[in-house]
Formats: sequence, structure tokens, C-alpha cells
Amino acid sequence: MADKGKPTTTDAGIPVSSDEHSLTVGPNGPIVLHDHYLIEQMANFNRERIPERQPHAKGGGAFGRFEVTSDVSRYTKAALFQPGAKTDVLIRFSTVAGERGSPDTWRDPRGFAVKFYTPEGNFDMVGNNTPVFFLRDPMKFQHFIRSQKRRADTNLRDHDMQWDFWTLSPESAHQVAWLMGDRGIPKTWRHMNGYSSHTYMWVNAQGEKFWVKYHFKTDQGIECLTQEEADQLAGSDGDYHTRDLYEAIRRGNYPSWTLYMQIMPFEDAETYRFNPFDLTKVWPHEDYPLIEVGRLTLDRNPTDYHTEIEQAAFEPNNMVPGTGVSPDKMLLARVFSYADAHRARLGVNYKQIPVNAPQCPVHSYSKDGAMRVQKVSDPVYAPNSKGGPAADPERYPEAATWEASGDFVRQAYTLRRDDDDFGQAGTLVREVMDEAARERLVSNVVGHLKGGVSEPVLERAFEYWRNVDLAIGKRIEKGVRGG
Ligand code: NDP
Repeated sequence: MADKGKPTTTDAGIPVSSDEHSLTVGPNGPIVLHDHYLIEQMANFNRERIPERQPHAKGGGAFGRFEVTSDVSRYTKAALFQPGAKTDVLIRFSTVAGERGSPDTWRDPRGFAVKFYTPEGNFDMVGNNTPVFFLRDPMKFQHFIRSQKRRADTNLRDHDMQWDFWTLSPESAHQVAWLMGDRGIPKTWRHMNGYSSHTYMWVNAQGEKFWVKYHFKTDQGIECLTQEEADQLAGSDGDYHTRDLYEAIRRGNYPSWTLYMQIMPFEDAETYRFNPFDLTKVWPHEDYPLIEVGRLTLDRNPTDYHTEIEQAAFEPNNMVPGTGVSPDKMLLARVFSYADAHRARLGVNYKQIPVNAPQCPVHSYSKDGAMRVQKVSDPVYAPNSKGGPAADPERYPEAATWEASGDFVRQAYTLRRDDDDFGQAGTLVREVMDEAARERLVSNVVGHLKGGVSEPVLERAFEYWRNVDLAIGKRIEKGVRGG
């Protein structure tokens, strides 16, 4: 007898009698309300979309593993960074400003979010493909993203709005210079680096603390698209990066990244020439050279984008023992806002969605809530004398800490000798870019400014670039105004 395959069922597992016809009174008559299978199909369809991420809505991802290749145990006791450790990972790449269907090749930073399923809980490194960011105070983040998204009146993105915000926020100059340069549009997700950007903390088994930055350097080599190539792809294949990653892994061409760290002794932060927690600055490699840690390889595609990537929830607060945050104000705000965003998008029990669930036992006192699927058991409170889990401060002390004191204020970081807005942007343009790269930078900025930026924002934009580099500023002004 021929194999008839799997019968279609309802969500309750009940076999249905037709994939094609609704239940009607005679072949030409009305549909009856008790066609519960049709109703289930329509109702499910109406509820398929969940709110897209705000921001980082468009993205793709894959699974793989992280293998430690050297010994950094003198800097951290984290299980995932111990010699020889192998850890399953999930990664999600994304653009920032566009919606879920927007082109992959728009000029924008790319999200580079990694979840490590470690034996001591999930560790998330929610980074970008750039080592810096536009801002250093989270009060401005919401406004920044609004300036990158759509206007209220036309529902259009608007370069005037973007440059208005940037030129009134000079701390953005380093990231804007980076964004308008070659790396502002990677050729593929496989051909870009990932950075923690923020400074984090590592703590070793003796309790010694270090300030650290993570650098995932692509083993495929850096490759970028020109503005023209990117514009063309945005029209012909808006999902170019999504497709590239999926196809590469499907072919067995597994992309990998080598993780390096910059490590600053804890005490150096006090006296370093600029604030090492300022997210708009890099630590020069010369001062803090890269130290190799291990390799991250992606070798498995998702099979269901929605459950494995759209519902993936990365959060910088997922810090395992031996790791921690730093006084970077942007990071401290993200520690709240990511988990809050997931609760809003996915519901309070989002960590029970399999892709977000840790691969180690969970003994938390969280309870109930919508869509809880893991059972809780008594006792449901702590402390208790009924055999429930108990915190173990000797094995797991609150180790990743630092001292702070002072009045409550709303103020910028205290300035140090080399704290400024334009210095590192100038270094990037003058010392890292060659003349051909500078010419592309000028052309990219001129094209962007000609795309709807008007006075007085335009004049402020020229001044902004003159502050980055006098010659570049003049070239940009000439490119826009002519003459
Ligand atoms: P280095 O010469 O030691 O580092 C320069 C780094 O710049 C390179 O290693 C590379 O980073 C990165 N880079 C190269 N080309 C470009 C480009 N077109 N756009 C953006 N980045 C590029 O000098 P410093 O450490 O003193 O840094 C100088 C400037 O380099 C910084 O102001 C910053 O803009 C940029 N930079 C520095 C990084 C750091 O951690 N020090 C990291 C990334 C950029 P990578 O090796 O990561 O590919």
C-alpha cells in the first residue's frame, strides 16, 4: 500500500477532512460557524505577527559553537572562557533603523548579538559591528533612534532629521565617521567584525578584576560594499545578507570569527587619559593590545525563523560568574531595557521559549504569568526551610563590583585630559583611512547631505566635519555647495 504520509490535523491534533474546502450548507451555500478548523486557520493567521523589535527589526541568525583556543583563566573564571571549553552559541545579525522588511544593504551599523549557552547560565554579548556608538548617555538613545526612523507627518526617513540630531550631539562624530566610511555597509554579515563596544568586567578565581572589551574578528576578512553596489542590491535583493548567511551555511562554508580581548587592569581606569567607559571611544590597540581567546563558528541554520530568530531574546544583563558590567552609562541602561523589551514583545516567560532557555538547570523563584510552560514546585518563596534553592554567596559572590559615591546629579562624565568628541574621529579619518577611503567617505557624506538636508542643519554639518578634520570638512562643503 502506498505511504499516505502525515494527515493534516487541527492544532489539537484532530485529523481534518479537507485542506481546501470550508464547511458549507451545500456546495453553494453559506459557511457554517462551527467550521472550527477554518476558524482556527483564520484566527491563527490574524495573530502570526508579533511586534517587531524597536530597533534592530531586520535580521537573521544561525547556531554554532565557541571554542577556547588559549588560556585567559588569569583574567576570568567564567566557565565558557576556560582552556578547551566548547559552548553552543546562537548569533543574530541585524540592521538598526529599518523595519522587518527593509533592505539588508542600507548604510547602518549592524547588530552582532551572541548568546552562549554556558553551564552557568546564558551569557549574552549584545554587540555591533562597530567598536563605538553615537552616544554616551542613555537619556538620548530613544531620541536618536527616532531621528533615524520615520517622521510623524510623511512617514518617511529624513536625512535632515538625522543630521539635525547628529550635529547637535557632537559625541556622535566618531561613530558617524565610521558609518560613512567603508565599513558602514559590510559586503555580508560574514565579512564584518563584531565588537562589544562597551567596556565590561572580568573577574578571576582570586577575585581580581579587569576591564575588558570583546572583539570578534572575521576569519573571512573584512569586505564592504560601495554605496552604488549597496543601492543596487537594495533594489534587486533586499534580503542579500540574510540569503548569503543561510546559503553559506547550507553549502557547508561555515563562517567563523576569532575572539580577541582588550584587557585593562582594574586600577588603570582611574588614571587613564580618557574615560575608558565612554562608549564613543575605542581603547587604542597600542595601549591595550588584542589578546586571542577562541573561535566562534556558525554551522547550523535555523529551521523555523520565527521560533529561533524572531523570538530570540538577547540581553546584556545575562552575565555569568567571572563576567560583569562597567560604569558605562549606556550599558547600565541596556541592562534594564533589553529584558523590558522582551517582556513587552514576547511576554514575561520569554526565557522559556526553547531558543532562550539555558542549557543548564534553572532554580529560580519566578512563578506563573502568561504562557508559562515549565512547572514550578513548592516552596515558592525564599528563605525557606523546605528544601528550596538557596543563594550561595561563598560560591557565587557579588564579585563584579566597583565603588561609587556622590550626590545625585544629571551631568556628563567628568572630563579628563583626552576626553573630547572629535579626536578619535579625526584619527580614524587621517590615520586609518587611506586617500581612496577618504574620497569614498567624502562622496558618501556629500550624497547623504544632498539627500534633503537644509539650512541651518547643513551649515552645522560642515562645521561638524571641519571639527573632525579641517580638510575633510572643506571637501564635504565643496562637494555639497559646489565651487
Ligand atoms: P590601530 O591602527 O591600532 O587600529 C586601527 C583599527 O581600525 C584597525 O585595527 C581596524 O580595526 C580598524 N579599521 C581599519 N580600517 C577601518 C575603516 N575603514 N573604518 C573603521 N575602522 C577601520 O589604531 P588605534 O587603536 O589607535 O585606533 C585608531 C582608530 O581606529 C580609532 O579611532 C577607531 O576609529 C579605529 N578602530 C580602532 C579599534 C580599536 O579597538 N583600537 C577597533 C576598530 C576601529 P579591527 O582590527 O578591529 O578591524
